[in-house]
Amino acid sequence: MVEKKSAVYDVVVIGGGVVGCAVLRELSRYDLNLLLLERETDLAEGVSKGNSGVIHAGFNVPAGSLKAKTNVAGLGMIYGLAAELGVPHRKTGKLVVALAGEDRGRLEGLKTEGDKSGVPDLELVDEAAIRRLEPLARGRWALYSPHTGIISPYEFTIALAECATQNDARVLLEAPVEAVGFDGGLFRLSTPKGTFAARFVVNSAGPFADDVARLAGIDDYRIFPYRGEYLISDKDCGLRLGMPVYPVPPRDDPGLGIHITPTLEGNIILGPSAEPVDDKRDVASTRKVIARIKAESGRLMPELARISFIHSYAGIRPKLVDPSGKDRFGDFVVEESGLRPGWISLLGIESPGLTSAPAIARMVAGMIGAKTDLRPKPDFNPTRPLRTRFANLGDNERAERVANDADWGEMICRCEHVTRAEVVAALRNPFGARTMDAVKRRTRCGMGRCQGGFCTPRIVKILQDEGVLVERITKRGGGSRLFFGRLKG
Ligand SMILES: Cc1cc2nc3c(=O)[nH]c(=O)nc-3n(C[C@H](O)[C@H](O)[C@H](O)COP(=O)(O)OP(=O)(O)OC[C@H]3O[C@@H](n4cnc5c(N)ncnc54)[C@H](O)[C@@H]3O)c2cc1C
Repeated sequence: MVEKKSAVYDVVVIGGGVVGCAVLRELSRYDLNLLLLERETDLAEGVSKGNSGVIHAGFNVPAGSLKAKTNVAGLGMIYGLAAELGVPHRKTGKLVVALAGEDRGRLEGLKTEGDKSGVPDLELVDEAAIRRLEPLARGRWALYSPHTGIISPYEFTIALAECATQNDARVLLEAPVEAVGFDGGLFRLSTPKGTFAARFVVNSAGPFADDVARLAGIDDYRIFPYRGEYLISDKDCGLRLGMPVYPVPPRDDPGLGIHITPTLEGNIILGPSAEPVDDKRDVASTRKVIARIKAESGRLMPELARISFIHSYAGIRPKLVDPSGKDRFGDFVVEESGLRPGWISLLGIESPGLTSAPAIARMVAGMIGAKTDLRPKPDFNPTRPLRTRFANLGDNERAERVANDADWGEMICRCEHVTRAEVVAALRNPFGARTMDAVKRRTRCGMGRCQGGFCTPRIVKILQDEGVLVERITKRGGGSRLFFGRLKG
């Protein structure tokens, strides 16, 4: 639906990744008229779905940087927030292992940096302790970080937005900002769904934040996309990894090195690589890099050689450092434009941006609060409606649900044990999931060993039952259609 008459919003957030959604949720505490504009058919379609899902402790970035400050502050907030929102997460601890004795000094350097930033309880441990903490890991020495954890990054993103909408913020999908005008002290943001007027704009467009800034005439930064490729195992792969295991960060790697991370469901993720690419949308998986990922992670954990992988994916790091330049470190940029007061840019939000998101959101609220009166809403609800997973229920609860509603007895995804009732709930969520990937992110349908072989036709049928024309069903919007014509009349 195209908006005819534009209301004036106090704040419009551009971009529905974890950072934009965290900002929206933080601002929804206050008596503000809020809107989030997202280009894609769902939230978390950008960097926020293509990462390691690690809650970082904050020792990998230089003390004093904005990355370190927001990481450590975010660490202090994210576990409570995830619990409040009912988002799957776990404090696992993490090991950074040195295979060679001479790398012990590098671990000490990381610890010193972490201590300076206020990262709690870092400890240097020996070979025996490594084995005790994570029997699958190998190494002579390791830095052990007990407060590191894992979280489902896309569920976190969606949950933040659901909470914000519950507190009267508005989210508009398939609404790319294509032009920015200025009129009467307001920003005018043009999208195919209408033009929206705003007093403040938060540009949280991830890798595209520099392009969006240029629409407003702000040309201060350039983002360089670096692709990170991953492999993911079946959750029943026969290995139980308890915590993320990282190498000592290789000196020539613009990331943290190929690491091994458990998911909350028990899969094992290998990766990511870190290579500059020309196209910000290029999330291809490549044979060469996948081979390298296997080889490098195999050095940290030889047992990986006997497991099989069911899927690959990639994410784009929005870096502010030119691959051809000598700078290795680019800090987060969170600043109000001098040229366009009221326009707040969030740029270069690469790792640890998932962990830092709640702290960045609080910073942005502080910047807006310095210029306008933020009145807390007495009825702000910090939670969101809880979602029940059939897979997590006990036998009695399952039987009770099935007795009350037959949809709980119809298995749509056999690998992940997702029922029809959960798929229908996902389709009727506040943002109306309409693509296969949107259903997947809310239910786990298609994330198992068969990779959607069983559930896809069943989800298509449910989408049709909900009134979606079969020709309009896509994997992730745009041209990713599942069906191109009828074979029978
Ligand atoms: C390989 C990799 C591994 C990582 N691992 C970790 C980790 O383990 N832990 C951690 O803390 N961090 C990690 N990160 C960093 C973290 O994933 C990011 O910092 C975070 O997801 C960035 O979120 P965002 O909201 O800024 O960007 P995005 O998620 O990309 O969101 C930006 C949104 O803006 C939208 N958009 C773009 N242009 C427009 C427009 N014109 N109009 C409207 N909308 C628009 C996009 O569609 C997108 O949805 C990792 C990153 C990568 C790439």
